[in-house]
Amino acid sequence: KLMKMGTMATINQEISFEIGSLVASEYGFELVEGSTNDEEELEAIDALIDKEEDKEEDLVKRPPVVTVMGHVDHGKTSLLDAIRKTNVTSSEAGGITQHIGASEVMVNGEKVVFLDTPGHEAFTSMRARGAQVTDMAILVVAADDGIMPQTIEAINHAKAANVPLIVAINKIDKPGANQDRVKQELADQGLLVEDWGGDVICVPVSALKREGIDTLLEMVLLVAEMEELKANPNKRAVGTVIEAQLDKGRGPVATVLVQGGTLRVGDPIVAGVASGKVRAMINSKGKRVKVAEPSTAVEILGLSEVPQGGDQVVAVPSDKAARLVAEKRQQMAREEMLKSNQRMSLDDFFSQMGDAEVKELNIVIKADVQGSVQAVKQSLEKLSNEEVAVRVIHGGVGAVTESDIMLATASNAIIIGFNVRPVPSAEVLAKKEGVDVRTYTIIYKAIEDVQAAMTGMLDPEY
Ligand code: GDP
Repeated sequence: KLMKMGTMATINQEISFEIGSLVASEYGFELVEGSTNDEEELEAIDALIDKEEDKEEDLVKRPPVVTVMGHVDHGKTSLLDAIRKTNVTSSEAGGITQHIGASEVMVNGEKVVFLDTPGHEAFTSMRARGAQVTDMAILVVAADDGIMPQTIEAINHAKAANVPLIVAINKIDKPGANQDRVKQELADQGLLVEDWGGDVICVPVSALKREGIDTLLEMVLLVAEMEELKANPNKRAVGTVIEAQLDKGRGPVATVLVQGGTLRVGDPIVAGVASGKVRAMINSKGKRVKVAEPSTAVEILGLSEVPQGGDQVVAVPSDKAARLVAEKRQQMAREEMLKSNQRMSLDDFFSQMGDAEVKELNIVIKADVQGSVQAVKQSLEKLSNEEVAVRVIHGGVGAVTESDIMLATASNAIIIGFNVRPVPSAEVLAKKEGVDVRTYTIIYKAIEDVQAAMTGMLDPEY
């Protein structure tokens, strides 16, 4: 029948659902997509699609997951190092800490998890993929250098993600260190530190001399306490892939942050579009473990292929369910791909916002000089009216970079470049993610376009 319909497939080949349905109907059957007789498996798939909320009484306190952000050379790596070394117990000293993408330290008997990769690229690319793994960010600012472009970027990334910030003023041992200047510059960015009457926690440290690290860690616990971080450990695990690679000897290896439930060796799992069974788990100390509770990072072996950072991980009831869910995911990924080309763009801003009461237009501005950033920002924000709120979520000097594209993707924003262009890699990424990047050399042209978009009157660009 297949061949009569013009499909020359052998028994080993896959056919589309549509063709399959036609063939089935020829034999008097109706094909239902994603069908299985196993109740449990069906449930697992449903649970994936509309995620169940945990009941309050099932939730228990969990450790915080922290990222370190800041301008290049301000001491992010040194700070992470200092934090790890301050907290090794003597029995572990000299032991090999394995790099798995995250590390755990104990502070006054409580666990804190640090993501090993500093910088906002990792952070934003995760968020662009719909994953939120960090509970708070430590913003490192060098006391001898002050706020720099990437510091501002980091602040805006954290703001857009709604992640609380703790400022670590680093390099206080240096002769040129000036903490007050840093605090002033922070205030200029809308971050008023506590000793200036604001609510931003700020800790002076020296990563090099390992000073102030304990205080910083205590502040992390304090913020965690205020955030009331909780998870339900008594269910099948859910988590996110932090990093993954193909290991010559061990096959696909993924570091997973367990965010809810408990992951166990032997659990069938799905990670992104990969599926498998947890064969072994290794913690950040390089030790094999059998269980991983919420806010634990473990390297896992046993996946069929290498997932991507930011992919969601779920434990499922059976191997078969794992395969089914992975297939479902693949299908959803294809649909997502189609959708990603329908991200926010000025052309159809109006129709995309539909009937929303107040429409929001998020914009990232890049310009050749700081003065232009300010001028463009002010002119655009002034366009806001009762119906449309124009929000500039980030403004910076320099070419449009990949980091800008990721921020725009994560926040559904458009990018306006004034007297600057995207770097080639950013251009490629913008195409892939479907981000609208517009470049101008005349301010009023930009204003005109945004104004037109706000009223649904913008002529499409050809
Ligand atoms: P990253 O690019 O933000 O990860 O910065 P690094 O951790 O690589 O540090 C950049 C440079 O600053 C290195 O040469 C460090 O030795 C130095 N550095 C980092 N922290 C301190 C500090 O507290 N005091 C001093 N004097 N130097 C520091």
